[in-house]
Amino acid sequence: MKDYLVKSLTKDGMFRAYAVTAKQVVTTAQKSHDTWSAASAALGRTLIGTLLLATSGDKSGNSIAVKINGGGPVGGIATEGNSNGEVKGYVANPHTHLPLNDHHKIDVGQAVGRDGFLEVTKLQANGEPFNSSVPLVSGEIGDDFTFYLAQSEQIPSAVGVSVFVNDDNSIGAAGGYLIQVMPGASEEAIATLEQRLKQLPPLSELLLSEQTPEAILNLIFGEDQVDFLTTMPVEFKCNCSKEQFAADLTGLPLDQLETILAEDKQLEVTCNFCHRQYHYDEQELSDIVAEAKAKQD
Ligand SMILES: [Zn+2]
Repeated sequence: MKDYLVKSLTKDGMFRAYAVTAKQVVTTAQKSHDTWSAASAALGRTLIGTLLLATSGDKSGNSIAVKINGGGPVGGIATEGNSNGEVKGYVANPHTHLPLNDHHKIDVGQAVGRDGFLEVTKLQANGEPFNSSVPLVSGEIGDDFTFYLAQSEQIPSAVGVSVFVNDDNSIGAAGGYLIQVMPGASEEAIATLEQRLKQLPPLSELLLSEQTPEAILNLIFGEDQVDFLTTMPVEFKCNCSKEQFAADLTGLPLDQLETILAEDKQLEVTCNFCHRQYHYDEQELSDIVAEAKAKQD
């Protein structure tokens, strides 16, 4: 099954719901960063949460950046996603593997830790970035995105994210859902939904048995209760470029840039998200310094 995301609205108009399959997204991340099981699950869940959050906005052309640092062995996680279904990310310690927990699952909460924050920066096409953060609830990522939506965006939500890692470190399944309560939803409908979510089989089981995003939403809300509005492909994609890094470099302190130009006469930059390398020779570096001077004067 190819990775895709589906947007839907329940027929009674009380809930907006999104579901996504993302096995290829997480597989690309796993291969690109050589992540081991706990790091694959932590990064993968964050990539899926980022995709759900980035595509759930009302405006197109927006993107978001997510940072999680819970003090656990995987270290910091950074992701970026946009409303076109493109996402990228990396984790500080990709070679993190932990013994399975009592339920024979990867202990993502322990791998991520909960002594820290989930921070979301919204980058609007034309406007100031908007930043907000919440303390981590469990480090399990799904709970943390749910808490973020409730606290920062005042939207009661339920977020489920799951990554199944095979014994050989390859990704067996990955995906998730995001449900938002619409204004005017009745208490009774919310209670029913909470009950149905409790009775839902584990998300990893549904994804491993190749249930589609549509089938997962039908399981949550009941057959024929949901109008599917849009489907869109999703992918792990880094849009970095030499020009973009050069523009970013002009934001560094001028004395730092001048020292690099005088002493090293060249600069090598590696993209954290995709490991592509960009080289700037003396001429290119002096152009960057001139640009930085013009900007900072
Ligand atoms: Zn890149």
